[in-house]
Amino acid sequence: MSSHASSRQRAPVLGGPASTVETACPLDCPDACSLAVTVQRGKVIEIDGSHKNPVTDGYICAKVRKFGERLYGPDRILHPGVRRGRKGEGRFARVEWDEALGLIVNRFQKAKAEAGGASILPFSYGGSNGLLTQDNFDAQLWRRFGTSRLDRTVCAAPTGAANQALYGKMPSVTYRDYPHAALIVLWGVNPSASGIHLVPYVRDAQRRGATLVVVDPRATPLARMADVHLAVRPGTDVALALAVHRHLFAGGHVNEAFLREHTRGVEQLRERAEPWTIDKAAATCGLDPDAVRRFAELYARSSPALVRCGWGLERNRNGGNAAMAVLALPAVGGKFGVRGGGYSMSNSAAWNIDRTWIGSPEPETRLVNMNHLGRALTEYTDPPVKVLFVYNCNPVATVPDQRRIIRGLERDDLFTVAFEQVMTDTALYADVVLPATTFLEAYDFAKAYGPIHLDLGRPVVDAVGEARSNADVFGELCSRLGLLADEEPTGELDLMVRILDALPPAVGSDLRAGTSPVPACGTAPIQFVDVFPRTPDRKVDLFPAALEAEAPLGLYRFQPDPATEQYPLTLISPASDRTISSTLGELARPDVKLVMHPEDAAARGLSDGDLVRVFNDLGDVHCTLKVAATIRPGTISLPKGLWRRSTGNGLTATALVPDTLTDLGAGACFNDARVQVAALANA
Ligand code: SF4
Repeated sequence: MSSHASSRQRAPVLGGPASTVETACPLDCPDACSLAVTVQRGKVIEIDGSHKNPVTDGYICAKVRKFGERLYGPDRILHPGVRRGRKGEGRFARVEWDEALGLIVNRFQKAKAEAGGASILPFSYGGSNGLLTQDNFDAQLWRRFGTSRLDRTVCAAPTGAANQALYGKMPSVTYRDYPHAALIVLWGVNPSASGIHLVPYVRDAQRRGATLVVVDPRATPLARMADVHLAVRPGTDVALALAVHRHLFAGGHVNEAFLREHTRGVEQLRERAEPWTIDKAAATCGLDPDAVRRFAELYARSSPALVRCGWGLERNRNGGNAAMAVLALPAVGGKFGVRGGGYSMSNSAAWNIDRTWIGSPEPETRLVNMNHLGRALTEYTDPPVKVLFVYNCNPVATVPDQRRIIRGLERDDLFTVAFEQVMTDTALYADVVLPATTFLEAYDFAKAYGPIHLDLGRPVVDAVGEARSNADVFGELCSRLGLLADEEPTGELDLMVRILDALPPAVGSDLRAGTSPVPACGTAPIQFVDVFPRTPDRKVDLFPAALEAEAPLGLYRFQPDPATEQYPLTLISPASDRTISSTLGELARPDVKLVMHPEDAAARGLSDGDLVRVFNDLGDVHCTLKVAATIRPGTISLPKGLWRRSTGNGLTATALVPDTLTDLGAGACFNDARVQVAALANA
């Protein structure tokens, strides 16, 4: 489907023959686009979409079209370096790879001898979501050396826990089936900023008569085109979903036969939903009761009805229960079994890839929640963190409690390694920096998690400077630390072959041949026809005992808003159309704006364009105010993934985010930041 006309200008031709090379985008985005990269004189001159992946359909986001600016930009790390200035200054002396790796190996061995392997903390996330770039030789290294383990829960942990417990991560509705839906509910997701290829499918469904409901505190582009926009108060989605459940139960809109045959725990869910009348939920969520009633009725009476559960609803103290309640709706409402009906969530588990090629079991070493990085660096004593190794990740920009993280990184007795593509806010604090390849300079497997699509990305140009791939560097560290048996592979190509051999034979051979493989479930499964829950008894577990025990108040319960008189405003930091998490945050962007509703601005005597200070007890952020009715009153917004250079005082939204954890999955509570805003001059 081709509703996006490409309006790009081709880059000026510099001379010499140009060739176009096919590869795939492995960045942390649901779409995993197929790319056509134009290369001239060994340099990337244009990046565009190809038609190999039908969802890509020849167009890509503006973010990756600009990726050449990262590849060749002034922030690129070109060679290994050893710190010369103070931590944070970013002054490094160039050294050879051999010297840098030798230094790291010595510090690893010293830390282990003095305080045990757990004094080394590896820190990574989805800077590349590719199968090659994370959880391979790196996992082998950390497991065999006995370092601390990292609980990677900064994103998708509560929704993942809910999806796993309810459905065993059953494959879900893919983009191409959206046009079959009569009702689409986009809940906590803004595809216009991330996962853009969903947008034309939603628009196509609307043209065919589908009703669109958007649940989001902001008037996102699709919310403005929706039939019902519920600008929910952040952190209250669970109440809204439970009110819909109650409406389904009370109105006789449930499919009793389906519930008997395919679910467990419905009575407990019914009981927990019972207090949530539409009026009570509307008051809690800050919504018009009539709009909530209309939504509940639409959901009760529409078929096929599709709920797209996003990640916006999980970023608060009630995020796990919100995901549980939202994902349970199609089971209670009897919405499965038809094309375009059911739920749509991450499809990352659709391929059933369990990384059998990592040749070591996970040891029982200390588990550090990544949202507690600041605490780990400044408070942990048994043992203290002596070595921090950061890769695929920029925690200063992305992890809660920014100031505490910076304090930790400033420790003189901490040895920090940053293995990075560009000089990030975190890399500035490193003792040793190592240059990493980007996906345009190395192999990787791009696995979509919106569509069901898997592709093999190839290097389109030689590595810039002395950059090396993750597989090569972690393989060599394993080798230098004596962690490999004689015959074990260490290099990127060895690892790629190992992965291809470990995939189902048909998948591996399709990838080798450059064609798109199809998993056992197909690429557009109908839930409860083609795929079923992957729970032990193949039933939907609506009231999993383990999650009831894990949630502080139990399942389907609501924890009240943390606002205080001093800090009454809810700060959210949603994904933007500029960065992929914090990736590309180094590129120049227009002045970053704090978005505030006119009522809140008037109450504070603030006007559009004012310089303001957003603050709470954790920190403050100086930026420019944008007054707009595109956000609900009481909620303000700064973009996710900002680098420190983007604001007036070098702190970003994460400086205002507490390191408290979600009710399920131990995720980050970004949207539980409660703040005040004042004019900068008066603050
Ligand atoms: S970030 Fe997403 S939309 Fe952009 S090129 Fe990569 S997969 Fe496509």
